Amino acid sequence: MDLILASQSTMRRRILNAARIDAQFMSPQIDEENITKSLIAVQALPRDIADTLAEHKALKISRKNLDSWVIGCDQILVFEGEVFGKPVSPEALKDTLSRFSGQTHSLVTANVIYKNGKPQWRHVSISQLSMRIITATEIDTYIEAHWPVVKHSAGGYHFERTPDLFSSVRGNWFDIMGLSIDPILSFLNQNQTGSPFQTPRLAAVLGHPVAQSKSPLMHGHWLKTNQVSGDYIAIDIPPMRFNTTVRMLFDVGFSGFNVTIPHKEQALALADDMSSRAHRIGAANTLIKMDSGKISADNTDGYGFMTNLVSQSSTWLPGAGPSLVLGAGGAARAVLVALLDAGVPKIYLCNRTRARAEDLAADISYCIEVIDWEDKQDILPDVFTVVNATSLGMTGKPPLEFDLKNVNPDALVTDLIYAPLETQLLRDARARGCEVVSGIGMLLHQGVPGFDAWFGSWPAVDEELEALVLS
Ligand code: NAP
Repeated sequence: MDLILASQSTMRRRILNAARIDAQFMSPQIDEENITKSLIAVQALPRDIADTLAEHKALKISRKNLDSWVIGCDQILVFEGEVFGKPVSPEALKDTLSRFSGQTHSLVTANVIYKNGKPQWRHVSISQLSMRIITATEIDTYIEAHWPVVKHSAGGYHFERTPDLFSSVRGNWFDIMGLSIDPILSFLNQNQTGSPFQTPRLAAVLGHPVAQSKSPLMHGHWLKTNQVSGDYIAIDIPPMRFNTTVRMLFDVGFSGFNVTIPHKEQALALADDMSSRAHRIGAANTLIKMDSGKISADNTDGYGFMTNLVSQSSTWLPGAGPSLVLGAGGAARAVLVALLDAGVPKIYLCNRTRARAEDLAADISYCIEVIDWEDKQDILPDVFTVVNATSLGMTGKPPLEFDLKNVNPDALVTDLIYAPLETQLLRDARARGCEVVSGIGMLLHQGVPGFDAWFGSWPAVDEELEALVLS
């Protein structure tokens, strides 16, 4: 099907790509400002303004591309009967956001489809967005951080970048993003003979900060290689706004989330149900909206750790003997549960802050014995698995000073760190004849159950994915 999207919007383009639709993208360049002014002058309704603008854009491209299906789009923001365009200055945006604070405004999204210069289909949706009360200082900070991007948007915000500005929404993600993909796909499916297009499913990683996350790269790769209709993005949410924002994102159509620092405990508390491993770890890294509408929490860090370990090692046996785990943070917690579940009979736990290790051991199992940070070398002859779950040895962090001269050569040594890929610990262990496993596979495998739950297919962890994530 020969399809053209008559829009410059990268988000609309992204939505079509997410739906696995091959389309051309063309910019219609119409005089939106004057058309809008003249429609306001004749007291046209907001939905008619958006529809007319979408129509002008589609018609302009359609006339030059007869035989193609052309999607025209427009979105306008309406508050107290007034149509809001792009902010003309930071001062104007400050005034606009002060007016929106604590109030509800509408986003009117119009989409039309033209062929041979004639309208074939049209659709208008109206979403209601309630902004929470925002202080003047917050508005100033927001404008300083986001002005270069939001100055191009009606109303002066990007919902996808700062959903935490809102307290509730009535509408769906795609309408708010400016492309009502569900009805568009219904129309296209009636007019094409190939296999039907599916509405994209949505997932995201939530963190604060979140820009460093590799998850969008991984899930984006899996969506592409599995030809799944779906999208996966990163969303930064401040801790204070986590619960409200997550619930709102579920309401607008998200199937689920990966959750990273600092939200893992809050994510577990927010869920209606949790897997037993999430319960035992005391934190969630995966949220899933079930068919019942309930939110289920899982923690796949331990799964990722163990799957990596057994897939990289041909010889490792959990029952061979005790393990030594260095570190007592969030990752160590998941590792301890995974090792015990796999059948490791005893774990020596060693952390700089001994009290933290003692709390963890008391929380998880009597099979965990806490030892002093200074004694970690002495225990080496007795252990068959050594795990570094501290941040020591990571690029930019202090080195892990750990003399392996007493290590059992039959032991497997693994590091959760993957930057660098081969840490000093792994180099030293390899030199002493130990089998070693790096941390990158844990990162890749932990994403698999979430992808399956949200997008309905079990993705592969392979060298191509590893190279992509490490690039
Ligand atoms: P965390 O909760 O912040 O815990 C950090 C741990 O490192 C604590 O045990 C801390 O000891 C210890 N530590 C930090 N600085 C230290 C120092 N100077 N001397 C001795 N110990 C020190 O972090 P996390 O989430 O558990 O992550 C730990 C590591 O695992 C990180 O490097 C992270 O990148 C990696 N990780 C990898 C994956 C993966 O998929 N491969 C997944 C999760 C985490 P104290 O308790 O004494 O502060």
